[in-house]
Amino acid sequence: MCDVEDLKLAACAAIDAAKKQLNNISTEIWSKPELGFEERHAHNILTDFLENHGFQTERSYKLETAFRATYGSREDGPNVTFISEYDALPEIGHACGHNLIAEVGVGAGLGLMAAMKAAGKPLGQVTVLGTPAEESAGGKIDLIEAGAFTDVDVAMMAHPFPENDFRPIALAYYGLEIVYTGKASHAAGYPWEGVNALDAAVTCYQGISFLRQQCKPDWRIHCIILEGGVKVNIIPERARLHVTVRAPSDQEMFLLRDKVINIITSAATSTGCQVEYKLFDRPCSAMLNNGVMVDLFEHNLSRVQPPEVPTRTGSVFGSTDMGNVAQVVPSIHPNFHIGGRAVNHTRDFTGDAGSPMAQEYTLQVMKALAMTAVDIVTSKDRLQEIKQAFAEGSNYT
Ligand SMILES: [Zn+2]
Ligand SMILES: [Zn+2]
Repeated sequence: MCDVEDLKLAACAAIDAAKKQLNNISTEIWSKPELGFEERHAHNILTDFLENHGFQTERSYKLETAFRATYGSREDGPNVTFISEYDALPEIGHACGHNLIAEVGVGAGLGLMAAMKAAGKPLGQVTVLGTPAEESAGGKIDLIEAGAFTDVDVAMMAHPFPENDFRPIALAYYGLEIVYTGKASHAAGYPWEGVNALDAAVTCYQGISFLRQQCKPDWRIHCIILEGGVKVNIIPERARLHVTVRAPSDQEMFLLRDKVINIITSAATSTGCQVEYKLFDRPCSAMLNNGVMVDLFEHNLSRVQPPEVPTRTGSVFGSTDMGNVAQVVPSIHPNFHIGGRAVNHTRDFTGDAGSPMAQEYTLQVMKALAMTAVDIVTSKDRLQEIKQAFAEGSNYT
């Protein structure tokens, strides 16, 4: 039986031995960007790689472009799940670097598998879960609803970013579509016969602007008017808006949403319009970064990465369906520097995510995730601490 340090070395050695193939995977995915739920090419090359390395692989697991690959058994210890994302953005390709998330997921899985083999006795289960459509449709939410996380003990992924951030903030998110209905009339001849739906939309927009004065610094509200009339000499009878609210906890997000709903309905009342509103997008929960796991990851990364890498803490990076995963199992979602300073969702970031310079950092991060998994599968007490922190519902502060 090896000690924990030997197992970590075995994990890192297996990653180094496969580094060329791992780089090929992310380059292949990068060069053929696919939108959410259309990631068939990425799905195939990731599952081929995992199958070739001895994982039991379920293709199209619960969703056409999702997959699950496992090694070992949960009867012998915890199921540590690494998550791979691989969807791209329209027009600008892998501008969020999900090709690197895919590489990190399979590489960390490979590392933990090697550590388990080196241990000479069963330690649990390693799972690589391929989760489609993060950018567009929240594929992880479908997978949660289909039961893909019921036998998972901890979940981990890592996301490319301009800087390292071990405790990034992903805000809870809720999007509403609002339709105001008024009454059309000749704008010059009989304006008094009309009920102006655009006035309701503008009143709503302004009410939201006033609300921002009383919002906390990390609350976000965005609003656009999608329809506001068809001809200037017709009083607009229909106006349509999208409003999104975000906050660092689900509770605060719902509080903010209810304030916005008051504004939506009062704008209808004040203008004499009818209003209907409904969800237009899937809500995301806030990311809970499990403190015990974050500390392990940070320590393990410091062993394989020099300290001068750009780092910050608590950056707001939007919202993610990984937040929903973090509500059901202890999770981490560290962001990692990839060598450049471009920001996500830009063409420059697409360049960074496909560049050879990103590989060094990507390998370091997958090693740190694999070593963190070794820490978890070799200590029942540590797993208990992780589950305790999760049960207390405490986000990392
Ligand atoms: Zn993104
Ligand atoms: Zn992303």
